Amino acid sequence: MITTTNPATGETIAEYETLDANGIDSKLETAIRAYRDWRTSPVEKRSQVLDKLGALYEDRTEELAKLAVTEMGKPITQARSEVEKCASLFRYLAKAGPDMLESEFWDLADGGRAEGRWLPQGPVLAVMPWNFPYWQVARFLAPTIMAGNVGVLKHASIVQGVAAKIEELTLEAGAPEGLFQNLCVSSDPIGDVIADSRIVAATLTGSEGAGSAVAQQAGKNLKKVVLELGGSDPFIVMPSADLDQAVKDAVTARIQNNGQSCICGKRTIVHADIYDDFADRFTKALKNLEIGDPMDEDTELGPLSSEDQRDTVLDQVEKAKEEGCTLLFGAEKLDRPGAWMSAGLLTDVELGSDTGTDEIFGPVGQIYRAKDIDEATTIANAIPFGLGSAVWTTDEDEQAHFANAIEAGMTTFNAVNGSKIEAPFGGIKRSGFGRELSHHGLHEFMNLKTLVHP
Ligand code: NDP
Repeated sequence: MITTTNPATGETIAEYETLDANGIDSKLETAIRAYRDWRTSPVEKRSQVLDKLGALYEDRTEELAKLAVTEMGKPITQARSEVEKCASLFRYLAKAGPDMLESEFWDLADGGRAEGRWLPQGPVLAVMPWNFPYWQVARFLAPTIMAGNVGVLKHASIVQGVAAKIEELTLEAGAPEGLFQNLCVSSDPIGDVIADSRIVAATLTGSEGAGSAVAQQAGKNLKKVVLELGGSDPFIVMPSADLDQAVKDAVTARIQNNGQSCICGKRTIVHADIYDDFADRFTKALKNLEIGDPMDEDTELGPLSSEDQRDTVLDQVEKAKEEGCTLLFGAEKLDRPGAWMSAGLLTDVELGSDTGTDEIFGPVGQIYRAKDIDEATTIANAIPFGLGSAVWTTDEDEQAHFANAIEAGMTTFNAVNGSKIEAPFGGIKRSGFGRELSHHGLHEFMNLKTLVHP
């Protein structure tokens, strides 16, 4: 059984019976059967399903948002935005997807012609986390439908209600049985699922540990894998920045989703010329956050996703203090049932230390003083991760420098960094490999078949 718990109250929500080996086998059989038909489905039918999914997510935003809040504690306003973003992605790919499946052609030196045709490959396994329980799945589901593949989902244990709801809505949108199935399982049988000959590839969003386990098993079985893992993104503020906006967005970047996003601005790096002013305002804004019931419209910071997750963050803060970091304020367990803690801010973090290189998946920031652009770049890159980054500067030369110098899959200028439905998303270094979204994401699990016509 998997038990889900409301992190705002500590109360049990529901219990789900997990699938045994026969149950998993039957789902995989359904998947491969569905694939035999879906692989040749007209592209217009794929667009129709995506469009309908978009409409369902729009119509049922409130219901879906509340379910996510109950299971993992994100503020309701952010849960609604997440559901709406999924709807936009479904609708976008319904429209833009068919063109992305168009063949490419090459003239050959011997007078012939070659065509690169995008063909589906089969059932793909997605292992997904709880932090954006709809969005992380939508980034997989939308291209799966458009590609002519089929998908099986192993969602995080704590969001099994959301997982079941996504399958229900996909069927309601007109997807044939087996196009998308939720496997209600713990992570134990996932190695066997990856090894199963009916699964052609796997994608995972989550921690390095889970990513490594899935990648090892996929490698052993010679199957492609896409990984979107953790990050400790820099949020760099240079003297030309609009300071009011930069402070506001630095707070959002750090505490969005209760501090639990792979692309949170976890390390705020500020040029020495504006450091004192920035640090003062950033501190005040973090201290004044509205902490409360995540169902409340005014709440800015809710509970963490689970008491375990909260305790992990508190342990990291204790370790930071042992390493000589200064905790400027906060990062305290709150005395109420559930997974509550206050926001906090660390400074005097040594580059290369555990605190300097680990991902803190909760509302505890780190602030660094950089004497110039080179030091800001050095600090930004002094981590094993390379996912996102944000840079605040209106100086075009500085923008050009950071565009190339920051080791990351994404850099956003003068705004909170976030994935865009139209643009590729993914990381380098220990943040993973492969891309989601855009035609790059759509093609990850497709066969670019070369057809030669002499
Ligand atoms: P995990 O990486 O453990 O969970 C993500 C998904 O992977 C879940 O579906 C989980 O299932 C599954 N999983 C876990 N271990 C394995 C395994 N060995 N084989 C196959 N699947 C596995 O994240 P946690 O919830 O434990 O969070 C821990 C840390 O991960 C966070 O503190 C954060 O640093 C990072 N994280 C990063 C995310 C991101 O967006 N990049 C998202 C979530 C977490 P189950 O839930 O059943 O364990």
